[in-house]
Amino acid sequence: MIQENYLSVKDRVRQACVRAGRDEKEVLLIAVSKTRTYDEIHEAAKAGAKVFGENKPQELRDKADALNKDYEWHMIGHLQTNKIKYIIERASLIHSIDSYKLAEAVDKEAEKRQMTASILVQVNIAKEDSKFGLDVEETEILIRQIAQLKHVKIKGLMTVPPFVENPEDNRVHFRNMRQLFIDIKHKNIDNVDMNELSMGMTGDFEVAIEEGATMVRVGTGIFGERDYSI
Ligand SMILES: *Cc1c(COP(=O)(O)O)cnc(C)c1O
Repeated sequence: MIQENYLSVKDRVRQACVRAGRDEKEVLLIAVSKTRTYDEIHEAAKAGAKVFGENKPQELRDKADALNKDYEWHMIGHLQTNKIKYIIERASLIHSIDSYKLAEAVDKEAEKRQMTASILVQVNIAKEDSKFGLDVEETEILIRQIAQLKHVKIKGLMTVPPFVENPEDNRVHFRNMRQLFIDIKHKNIDNVDMNELSMGMTGDFEVAIEEGATMVRVGTGIFGERDYSI
């Protein structure tokens, strides 16, 4: 089932790219594997998944250490400074940087290991009280500050828009993200590669792709409903 689901999501990614006149290679499908077992992750990998998204640092650490070394791991959830150590060498991209303090702490951990951490800056595009992320107005300022850090590299932006029944309701947020992304890209800030736009989940990834997403994060659509009781 997971293999079929993965292939079907992949196909929907392809079709959304066609509709948007985009090359399928521009969009990375991240299989969000939080709460899933090793077997479930292997199933997705068999169908072609290579990059997995986790939102809990220790879970990412355990899975990265236990599973195939050629799987790639992205940290997509809220990160606390004291947990950076679990993921810094294991996550190839951290999607959820939403303060200078957090970026500075990542920089410090990366410096200790003589590495550079790749990050995205998380934006609260719909200004929801309940959501992590920066306001649009403060994003460029923060990016300019983070760009001064030597051991982190900004690769783009990420957002988690509101949960909606109708994905069209999020189109405006995806479009606003894309605009912010382009605006910042055009500033050509030193030490910033504004090339990745991480947005779109099971309920709305096709709209996100039509509006310019380069990474979509799909969990339920690949693995089925999550069971948090186990
Ligand atoms: C869980 C999660 C996803 C995937 O959500 P689905 O609706 O299951 O596709 C994507 N992004 C983040 C940040 C998440 O925490």
